[in-house]
Amino acid sequence: MSRGDELAANLAAVRARIAAACVGAGRDPADVRLVAVTKTFPAADVRRLAGLGVTDVGENRDAEAAGKVAALGDLPLRWHFVGQLQTNKAASVAGYAYWVHSVDRPRLVDALAVGAARAGRRVGCLLQVSLDGAPGRGGVAPAALAELAAAVAVRAELRLAGVMALAPLGADPDAAFARLATLAAALRQAYPDATAVSAGMSSDLEAAIRHGATHVRVGTALLGGRRGLVR
Ligand SMILES: *Cc1c(COP(=O)(O)O)cnc(C)c1O
Repeated sequence: MSRGDELAANLAAVRARIAAACVGAGRDPADVRLVAVTKTFPAADVRRLAGLGVTDVGENRDAEAAGKVAALGDLPLRWHFVGQLQTNKAASVAGYAYWVHSVDRPRLVDALAVGAARAGRRVGCLLQVSLDGAPGRGGVAPAALAELAAAVAVRAELRLAGVMALAPLGADPDAAFARLATLAAALRQAYPDATAVSAGMSSDLEAAIRHGATHVRVGTALLGGRRGLVR
């Protein structure tokens, strides 16, 4: 099977999973957007996915993302930054990201705003919430979410788009995503435009869709296993 055929089959399977999960949850599949997480895979794969109708692409390292953005500038793609983001890379990311899903501290907000202003862009921000307080995977504590939201909301260069979370390792994803849904609802009360809920990956997208995910971030199920660095 050619790589193109393989990606087409994987994409069809992922879209079928999303559709089935939406049916199960009584939701409209049009309300769940697929972000194809292409980290570690070549720009050629992103081009193939774009040819198959993928519009939203996720990356988690600035250097890799910037290279793909440059190589694929002819395609109408939205680039999502989904990984932990160092403050000193924020200005670069603000130059190409449609959304940053991993906004989790005020200093990063400041750096993104400066970078967005410099690039003459407005960058969407999802506040990444740590649902278990475990260090190392990023995310703001739920208790600090409102303060972080306010820091984004006052920045004209940024747009507060919603929340993002990873299910805690080894935990029940339904419980985690239910908690995220509660936090997302509270945020929407204060910021009605912050409607996005980025949750669910290859292994748990059904649970995320049950609990209101609007964006699922899928890598492995689309592209296959990642070699080398596990990240
Ligand atoms: C890699 C990654 C994904 C995709 O994970 P898969 O299990 O390969 O689908 C989603 N979200 C983030 C933040 C990631 O780093």
